[in-house]
Amino acid sequence: MPSWWKGKAPAGEDPKQTARRQRIQREKRDQFRAQHAVARAIDRGDLIRPATCDECHKEGKVIGHHEDYSKPLEVQWLCPKCHGKRLWGYGRP
Ligand SMILES: [Zn+2]
Repeated sequence: MPSWWKGKAPAGEDPKQTARRQRIQREKRDQFRAQHAVARAIDRGDLIRPATCDECHKEGKVIGHHEDYSKPLEVQWLCPKCHGKRLWGYGRP
């Protein structure tokens, strides 16, 4: 776990920065939990990692993508290319 994980403010931090940092930390924590829930579900056999991308249906390595971290087992399986598009928005190069 990185040192910033505990949520301690670095000395002399700007209060505006604190709110921003805490928001990002919450997001990271939820992301971490959701990804672990998926890994455990795969281990149990409750979730199966498919061989093809949900989006372009190409075969290869797929990444579990969460639209909503509060629903950790609702994942879309995307290839790195489609995952990048999903994260950074469609239509961008
Ligand atoms: Zn794809």
